[in-house]
Amino acid sequence: MGKLEFAGLTKSFGHAKVIRETDLTVEDGEFVVFVGPSGCGKSTMLRMIAGLDEITGGELRINGRVVNDVAPVDRGIAMVFQSYALYPHMTVFENIAFPLQVAKLPEAEIRRRVAEAAAVLKLEERLAHKPAALSGGQRQRVAIGRAIVREPAVFLFDEPLSNLDAALRAEMRVELTRLHAKLGTTMIYVTHDQVEAMTMADKIVVLRDGVVEQVGSPLELFHRPANRFVAGFLGNPT
Ligand code: ADP
Ligand code: MG
Repeated sequence: MGKLEFAGLTKSFGHAKVIRETDLTVEDGEFVVFVGPSGCGKSTMLRMIAGLDEITGGELRINGRVVNDVAPVDRGIAMVFQSYALYPHMTVFENIAFPLQVAKLPEAEIRRRVAEAAAVLKLEERLAHKPAALSGGQRQRVAIGRAIVREPAVFLFDEPLSNLDAALRAEMRVELTRLHAKLGTTMIYVTHDQVEAMTMADKIVVLRDGVVEQVGSPLELFHRPANRFVAGFLGNPT
């Protein structure tokens, strides 16, 4: 179960307000894409949800519980970053297992979860390899595997495909959509790429300078953009 509710959620760095009073509901199981130009506050939004950045105003509730003061590890959230630092000296298995080893899960449980994640991500043949022996797409899948094994209620993705070439990005878009269908877990995905937003989202949140300009399905936003910024950003010529 992974429902999120933002009530007046705000983030300031000193005097600079980078996220302004945001109200938003993310339903359990939704694939929500935050899209907007560089610097509009997408990463800050994710970092507040993950607990990596302090919330400076308003409330964030996860499954009805206010989490403003809840530690990152206790929020049931796993985050996949743009630069997916894998440990180069560890195998794929060890990289994926790492968060579970830190959490001191029993070895059998660790093996079960890693095997399950590897099957979902088609990494079964790669578990004994080091990251240097993998393709870019495979490395990104290892980073996603490291999130999957934690069995989070919510996945956060911060521009996870931006370091991949166009062909791989297209392939990974499809894979991530398939992963979401398979797991059914809430996913919040941040990107500045309109194509990713339009093709992957159940719901798109368009951000501009820390303000939510519009929330809706890809079709709603395409056919009924709230303003010129949304229309222009999503590529609607009207
Ligand atoms: P995006 O991910 O959409 O590119 P960010 O969330 O990284 O945008 O940044 C939003 C705004 O907040 C930017 O103006 C950025 O300069 C500012 N910002 C981000 N992190 C910090 C920080 N730690 N201290 C001060 N300003 C920050
Ligand atoms: Mg960012």
